Amino acid sequence: MRTITATHVKYYHVCHRKLWLFDRDLWMEHTSEAVAGGELLHQTAYPQRAERYKEVSIGGSKIDFYDPHRRVIHEIKTSQKLEESHIAQLKYYLWLLEEAGVEGPTALLEYPKLRQTLAVALTPADRADIPQWLTRIQQLQSDNTPCPPTINKPFCRQCSYYEFCYVGE
Ligand code: SF4
Repeated sequence: MRTITATHVKYYHVCHRKLWLFDRDLWMEHTSEAVAGGELLHQTAYPQRAERYKEVSIGGSKIDFYDPHRRVIHEIKTSQKLEESHIAQLKYYLWLLEEAGVEGPTALLEYPKLRQTLAVALTPADRADIPQWLTRIQQLQSDNTPCPPTINKPFCRQCSYYEFCYVGE
């Protein structure tokens, strides 16, 4: 069985084709300016953060900034586009922490450029939904599953797979 990471969960909520391509190691993110900008923001938005918080590896995923005393994950994003997928990623981290025995973890989704923060917590509905996400992701990882179709959304133009998906159209 292939590993499921938080990136799989995030892509599951963006585009199943993106998840399918990523899972098969067709990795193009390093060519994306948006991703490069996000990495720069991570390094510069809160310069003292790396000293204050812990990096946690769990279930094949890596939480960059975790406050173990308050049991709070801090996740930085550049924009609120695709916010649903950001929230799903955080809920998956929270679920992993709970599965590991951490009681009542919560998360803050931070947008430094917008000066906005969104609190994220697991609900009973999330605890029921997340295993279903994982089952569906495993199905998409199966060698028998063909590449899902393109989705033709406005955000496709910012996707690192854009040229791969739409070249020749
Ligand atoms: S360009 Fe659009 S269809 Fe292609 S992988 Fe990205 S989000 Fe999916």
